[in-house]
Amino acid sequence: MATEQPTLIVQTGAEVLRQRAVEVPLEEIPTPQFQALIARMFEAMRNAPGVGLAAPQLGVSKRVFVLEDTEERMATQSALERSERERVLVAPRAIVNPVLTPIGEETATFFEGCLSVAGHAALVTRAREVEVRGFDEKGEPVSWRVRGWPARILQHELDHLDGTLYVDRMHSRSFTTAGHLKERFAGRPIAEILRTFGL
Ligand code: ZN
Repeated sequence: MATEQPTLIVQTGAEVLRQRAVEVPLEEIPTPQFQALIARMFEAMRNAPGVGLAAPQLGVSKRVFVLEDTEERMATQSALERSERERVLVAPRAIVNPVLTPIGEETATFFEGCLSVAGHAALVTRAREVEVRGFDEKGEPVSWRVRGWPARILQHELDHLDGTLYVDRMHSRSFTTAGHLKERFAGRPIAEILRTFGL
């Protein structure tokens, strides 16, 4: 309906962002209510805009997240930034009851933000490669092994389902407003940025 308000994304401080979200019974996945939740999550993520969103960010304590990365979203970064981040297109997908396993010992440290901590970002070290297992929006089992930026999105969204925000994992001295991020760090090689923070 044209009169509907855009969905508001829950901001940090809300209890729902700090709870362990509840497992989704598989028989719930095909229900109209659950399908509508997934649709609302995609809508809220795209409107924000963002590349991932977990149900608790809409105030719903259920173990499901959505993600999508597009040319349009990536256009905010330079070719260097995209290649350093191993940022690639991610087709829209929803993952229910995800279980995540880091692969190997390699890590990557980049600035990361969150739609529930609006207007800020910080450096966060994450596994470079992960495998996620769970169920898709039809209730079919899925397993996805991926590295680079999609691996970071998966770790960030999985954290949401466990009541964890990136601020719990950030290199706190790098915590910055989005404005300062753009002025001070946009377009700079990550090695140079990490040296700035002694990382
Ligand atoms: Zn987030």
